[in-house]
Parts: sequence; structure tokens; C-alpha cells
Amino acid sequence: MHRRLLWPTHTFHHSIEELWWLSGSRTSLTHLLLFAVPQVFIADYVFRLSASETAIAFSVGIIVNIWIHTNLNVDLGRFEWLLITPNYHRVHHGAKGLSNMNLGFVLTIWDRMFGTYVDPRALETDFSLGVISTRKGLLRMFAGL
Ligand SMILES: [Zn+2]
Repeated sequence: MHRRLLWPTHTFHHSIEELWWLSGSRTSLTHLLLFAVPQVFIADYVFRLSASETAIAFSVGIIVNIWIHTNLNVDLGRFEWLLITPNYHRVHHGAKGLSNMNLGFVLTIWDRMFGTYVDPRALETDFSLGVISTRKGLLRMFAGL
């Protein structure tokens, strides 16, 4: 979603300038069609999950999405090496070229493996969030075009 072709579908999510618990649900219509809707079919047809198993899986995803977008300064101690915190994801929403960093959703290990890890403690706490230069209007971002 952070490459040229799919970035327009994700710009609306990154246009927020302040994180709060519902920020993760801010997504374009195109993004919903390309990613959220197919997840239902993958759960059903590929993994053969029952309706209740699918509901549990989606609930966990929603809870994680709320967790990483909260505006809380939480210290998980040793677990911060492994698990993504709101501060960790806040770096991902940083305006100055940070959106290609800290791409993980649950575990930090993927960013550590692929060189996209930025320690949130290494940055100033008041860096700005959002997309610096977008000439797109709100409706076009909402559509994901
Ligand atoms: Zn986000």
C-alpha cells in the first residue's frame, strides 16, 4: 500500500494529523474493496473458518487496529522489542518520510528483518503526522483514487 500503485488507496488513512482510537478505521472505499472485503472470502474459502471463527479473527484484528492507533504513551517494557505499541505505529504516520517505516501490525520483527524499523524512543515526541503534500481533495482521497 506504500508503493505508487496502491498508495492512492491508502493516502486517506495517512492524511490524519492526530491519532486516536478510531483512526485505524479511516480508510478509502477502494481500500475496503481491495483488502477488507477479500479477507472475508479468504477466511471462508481458503482457511475454511466457521462464521464464529471468522468473527473472532476479525475481532482480534479490530482490537489490534484500535490499540495501535490510540493516542496513548504506553510502556510495555521488554515486550516492546516484540509487540507494536501506539508509539511504534505513530512513527509510521509521521509526515516526514516516515510512512515507509514501522510497517508491522502486530510484531516488530518484520521491520527489524527488512530494515524498516525505527525506534520510537529515538525520535522527538512532537513530530508532525499526516501527508505533507497532497493535492488531492477529500472526496478523491475517500474514494482512494
Ligand atoms: Zn495507521
